[in-house]
Amino acid sequence: MSEGATRDDSDRARRLLLVDDDPALLRSLENLLTPQGFEVNTANGGRAAIERLRETHYDLLLLDLGMPDLGGREVLRFMQTHDRVVPTVVISGNASADDVAGAIRDGADDYLKKPYQPEELIATVRNVLHRKDLEAANRNMRRRLEQSERLHRLIVNNSPDIVFVLDSAGHFRFVNARAHELLGYARQDLLGRSVLDLVGAEDRDKAAYFFNQAGHGGTHLRSVELVLKPKEGGDWAQRYFEVAVCPTPVEGGDTENLIYGTARDVTERKESEAFINFQAYHDLLTRLPNRALFRDRVEVAIAHAERYQSRLAVIFIDLNRFKVINDSLGHTLGDRLLQAVAQRLQGCIRESDTLCRFGGDEFTLLLPGIADSQAAVQVGEKLVESLQTPFYLGGDQELHVGASLGIAVYPEGGDSLEALIRHADIAMYREKSTGKNGVCLFEPEMEGATPNRLELEQDLRRALERDEFCVLYQPQVSGEDGRLLGVEALVRWSHPKRGELGPTEFIPLAEETRLIVELDRLTLRQAIRGLNKVNGQCPDLRLSVNLSPALFEGDGFVDELLEFLHSEGFPAERLEIEITESLLLNDAEDTIAKLNRLSAAGVRIAVDDFGTGYSSLSYLQKFPLHTLKIDRSFVRAVCNDGEACIVNAIVSMARGLQMDIVAEGVETTAERDYLRRLGCPVLQGFLFGRPAPLEHVLTSCATPARSDRLPYDA
Ligand code: C2E
Ligand code: CA
Ligand code: CA
Repeated sequence: MSEGATRDDSDRARRLLLVDDDPALLRSLENLLTPQGFEVNTANGGRAAIERLRETHYDLLLLDLGMPDLGGREVLRFMQTHDRVVPTVVISGNASADDVAGAIRDGADDYLKKPYQPEELIATVRNVLHRKDLEAANRNMRRRLEQSERLHRLIVNNSPDIVFVLDSAGHFRFVNARAHELLGYARQDLLGRSVLDLVGAEDRDKAAYFFNQAGHGGTHLRSVELVLKPKEGGDWAQRYFEVAVCPTPVEGGDTENLIYGTARDVTERKESEAFINFQAYHDLLTRLPNRALFRDRVEVAIAHAERYQSRLAVIFIDLNRFKVINDSLGHTLGDRLLQAVAQRLQGCIRESDTLCRFGGDEFTLLLPGIADSQAAVQVGEKLVESLQTPFYLGGDQELHVGASLGIAVYPEGGDSLEALIRHADIAMYREKSTGKNGVCLFEPEMEGATPNRLELEQDLRRALERDEFCVLYQPQVSGEDGRLLGVEALVRWSHPKRGELGPTEFIPLAEETRLIVELDRLTLRQAIRGLNKVNGQCPDLRLSVNLSPALFEGDGFVDELLEFLHSEGFPAERLEIEITESLLLNDAEDTIAKLNRLSAAGVRIAVDDFGTGYSSLSYLQKFPLHTLKIDRSFVRAVCNDGEACIVNAIVSMARGLQMDIVAEGVETTAERDYLRRLGCPVLQGFLFGRPAPLEHVLTSCATPARSDRLPYDA
């Protein structure tokens, strides 16, 4: 190792090789140098020197130039060409100045001229050794520096962070490749440019302050979070960075203040923080504020209203028919419908209002600073109206949902968050029990009068256990001659405290809670047994029962029904089940199969409230359907000029499809006569009898035997 001037080297004795053709001189030199602490070898002549150099490493060569066998310069050349260079002091006796200069060219480090003083020799030797040590140390240091620089460059260029150096004015002096990967800037784009050019507008001031501070001395690390803009025209996105700088780590007087820094991409962290934050206060499906945020906003609005003596309204919105759609069409579509509803509702309100998804198909709305309750009612009506247009969520399918709204206005309708929400809920429920879509303003009398839903649900469960339900029957008569053809079973609840309740007051809740499944099974059984009891009087009387779509979800329903008919000895042909259009929209093979099985067994299938639901009629051909029940709203219209055409159209369409028709809700003789002329085969309505106990129906209605009298001649 020629450059081995490490600390260990300097401690060990230096090994010298003395080369001369004069043995006496060699001996005297040896005697001179050994006491100086050198390890001394000798070589008598050039050839012997080369032998030695081949075998042993020397720190220094004292080389005579003029030797008979092989001259000093030959030895020098040997060392050059054989890569065995050893620091050399040449000693010239009678050699010419040219020779000395040649020797220096050949690699000698110094020379002595004979005769020389012993001190001179020793000083020259030490001098060369010292110089060589310094050179080696220097080389060593440079190599280490290079190594360390290579390492740093490797680290900087492979850093996941943007690494940069700015001048004190904040202009880029250096930037690594990461700036290109993350933001699209090539190095040339940035060098010389101000770091502030990269900072997003919202963080400009913050950044200016930060870099200004960093440029003005101090050596401690500072950091700041900044939004950095990407280069324009690429598909890089704006990202969040944690920027850390350490100003001027270089010490010393007149070096420039530089700012060394890194920018770590924290976009993912920021986004997940923002998401978590959003999630805590929003409903992810509709992206509306959630309950927590709603409560917050109402509290703030109340405080404000208190202070400025103003009003605010809380509106409770509950969708109607949503459960049916969700259950029959699947949750994916249900979710999309909720999103669409949320969007539509939001379109009706102002930016300062807060629409919230309260849960399930319930929404709440805060209207801060309204003039009076009438204003809130108007907004409510607008919301109800907005839902009237059907929803199209892919395909040609039309979806209809409605909503019942309850409004509580601060301060008369409640002066706290809890009271306002509770009262809006009570009013909403009051509206819902009418069975229509609409708006109801909370009045203090309602409290106590309207049970809340939770109570009602508990009551409903208890009622099922205790069998508080009874079935009434409404006659269906022949359009031709008024004969009693059949009855529709309609359920009633004898509520222990609230008396007899009609289905509109509890069916929606029963559907929501799925208690309807149990309720419908109960009603069906009760109705069949009821008809069996009067078999003697009218053995052919047909029975219609209403079945909720929820029944068609379970697997065992069809078997159970057919078994029951069998065990009761009730012919399947006498039973007609009334289903809603919403069930048919679900053209799941499953529903078709179930209806097919029922139909094959002889059970007739009627579409209830025909014409009020979905306008797409394609389902009529897909399902085994026997009867269309024309909704009473169309029947009501037959006596208005020009509006009868809907009924006309339904009747002729049903004929074309070879389906039976029942006109519902016939109340006047004018309606009856019109329908009769139209050839509508079956009529139902108050004109022929209200829902009543079966015995009552049989005595007051025209039985087949007395068909010539009632009710046409009444
Ligand atoms: P729906 O199936 O359309 O039943 C006809 C409704 O119209 C009955 O109301 C009946 O009393 C009423 N109605 C009959 N004729 C007239 C008339 O001339 N004028 C007027 N204004 N109304 C008339 P109800 O009994 O209150 O039943 C309401 C709804 O509740 C029913 O509508 C049906 O959808 C549902 N429902 C009743 N019983 C059951 C049941 O056991 N199960 C299921 N799932 N739903 C039922
Ligand atoms: Ca019905
Ligand atoms: Ca109906």
